[in-house]
Amino acid sequence: RHRILQEMEGSLTARDRVGIQDFVLLDAYTSETAFMDNLRKRFNENLIYTYIGTLLVSVNPYKELGIYTKKQMDIYMGVNFFELPPHIFALADNVYRTMISETSNHFILISGESGAGKTEASKKVLQFYAVCCPSTRLLDNVRDRLLLSNPVLEAFGNAKTLKNDNSSRFGKYMDIQFDHQGAAVGGHVLSYLLEKSRVVHQNHGERNFHIFYQLVEGGEDELLRWLGLERNCQNYRFLIQGECAKVSSINDKSDWKTVQKALIIIEFSEKDIEDLFAILASVLHLGNVHFGASALGYLLGIPSNMLREGLTHRKIEAKAEEVLSPFTAEHAKYARDALAKAIYGRTFSWLVNKINESLANKDSTRKTVIGLLDIYGFEVFDMNSFEQFCINFCNEKLQQLFIQLTLKSEQEEYEMEGIEWEPVPYFNNKIICDLVEEKHRGIISILDEECLRPGEATDFTFLEKLEEKMCGHPHFVTHKLADQKTRKTLERGEFRLLHYAGEVTYSVAGNCSLLFKVMRQSKNSIIQHCFHAIEPDGKKRPETVATQFKSSLAGLTEILMTKEPWYVRCLKPNHCKQPDRFDDVMVRHQVKYLGLMEHLRVRRAGFAYRRRYEVFLKRYKALCPDTWPHWKGTPAEGVQRLIKHLGYKPDEYKMGRTKIFIRHPRTLFAIEDAFEIC
Ligand code: ATP
Ligand code: MG
Repeated sequence: RHRILQEMEGSLTARDRVGIQDFVLLDAYTSETAFMDNLRKRFNENLIYTYIGTLLVSVNPYKELGIYTKKQMDIYMGVNFFELPPHIFALADNVYRTMISETSNHFILISGESGAGKTEASKKVLQFYAVCCPSTRLLDNVRDRLLLSNPVLEAFGNAKTLKNDNSSRFGKYMDIQFDHQGAAVGGHVLSYLLEKSRVVHQNHGERNFHIFYQLVEGGEDELLRWLGLERNCQNYRFLIQGECAKVSSINDKSDWKTVQKALIIIEFSEKDIEDLFAILASVLHLGNVHFGASALGYLLGIPSNMLREGLTHRKIEAKAEEVLSPFTAEHAKYARDALAKAIYGRTFSWLVNKINESLANKDSTRKTVIGLLDIYGFEVFDMNSFEQFCINFCNEKLQQLFIQLTLKSEQEEYEMEGIEWEPVPYFNNKIICDLVEEKHRGIISILDEECLRPGEATDFTFLEKLEEKMCGHPHFVTHKLADQKTRKTLERGEFRLLHYAGEVTYSVAGNCSLLFKVMRQSKNSIIQHCFHAIEPDGKKRPETVATQFKSSLAGLTEILMTKEPWYVRCLKPNHCKQPDRFDDVMVRHQVKYLGLMEHLRVRRAGFAYRRRYEVFLKRYKALCPDTWPHWKGTPAEGVQRLIKHLGYKPDEYKMGRTKIFIRHPRTLFAIEDAFEIC
């Protein structure tokens, strides 16, 4: 292993070239420039991973590096975290072994902006467990299903966007359950807010969800005939709005085959699969339904009068009677799109449930779990709508969790070990979370009020309310105040939030009025169903999508709070999805907003390094004749003897209850070097 270490990363001279594998060991640690230099140096050498203590920083290489092979997995399996060059496998292995040795639950939070490599990282972790955990024939089954749930969920939940050819358009939290022997025995997926609007509308340069193109390109002739589809994406309005049905990096045909196989292994019945494809086809057909100025549309493949009526009429209750009144063409289009979105959204939920049934562990003995959180990254487009608002709010919440957990755990550790420390100042984004979610005062509350207010609520009254209530908030910019806080002006109908990760301008057009006006005016059961805004009993105060999302995020936070956190911070090196390009300004911005410098400072504020006595002794005992080859006393005494021999000064280290804490990385560096020479 030591040889591998040297080969891959390490002699003293190589350090200049390849940088340092843990930022905590950087000499000029507080300088962002030094941080960036180290990151760039390593990136140029194809070393995409670097630690900040146990946090893993990863820079998307946009090329295959050959570092995820079985051989690499073997190298990392069961090895101490810091003994080998940083790697996602090292983190996965460390989490796994901690889970087993402490019988505790964990989660790995993978964050970063769209295209930074979150989904790839989460897949690598899953693959590592699939290959490295003990297994039996029976469990192979579980393992395959765990692995194959990915291509299915990606086909239905990912799409090409301007930022990423395989962008996750839903948030995903996956629990992997392990038994006492450490074998993976089951799993469970939670999905968050699928971007349903994509089904009916794609911006230029973007696509609908992959599965539609896979079906049209890859579906067998017979299947297409049955579904009444032609093998040409250009024929379907829902597939071509972005004008890029073909993407060079994507092979829809072979992906179709993969998904087909996966569906069978996950044990979807033939009937399920047929129904699923029929639904996809019906959505495509629905997209092609036209509504002339006054003429009724027609619906291919769904020959139901009621549906046609529902799409083109609304019911008006006049005294005891119900009268049908035709929609305007505009309303009819709207109803059609709402239906398409609802069908797809519901199908996606059904799919996740099916996968969960298949991954469910039947045995009820206590399990430990490792949760993998791969949630859509912070995103800023030219036009940002309600969906971006939710996505970015979710990122705020996760950043908040990170802040709470890292600072909290750091403080607790010092306290537990009986060691004093000075807290480090940091930007707390709680103020932005509150701005969005605070009860009665936050943006979501105001949106709810406006959407549910009888009478003439519109996008503009919503914005006016916002302006009135948020006026003066340091992170909220309105049309009127735009010039004072930021240089960029705002159009009418827009507001801007200063997120922890940057400014985003949201358009309120269509967020509220159109959506909810139709819903409110219509007694059409399909439309009500689509927005499930009105409870069946009609009494409970209806929930808007934003409120539902807010509560599902609160649920997620609860799940995470009971587990031990691990972090992977993914960075995107350039906007062009190209290898070997490291855009300094762009990376620096991400380093800033992901709070990496602050995290580093916290790690360094008190003590850069801490190791359990027995681990420390085991690694360095060869440096002292008293402790080599065997030390008979307690590990703490052994470490005491060892550092006395090494000549540590009293302010360089502290002895905690179970661990040694080392203040300066230089100190550790020195023994690492001595160790290498020895
Ligand atoms: P989004 O928030 O849009 O879902 P993401 O962070 O999940 O983005 P990924 O889909 O994981 O981003 O990565 C985008 C692309 O970058 C991948 O399709 C792949 O081409 C490339 N990529 C990411 N990580 C790696 C890696 N470790 N090695 C090689 N290529 C990578
Ligand atoms: Mg992703």
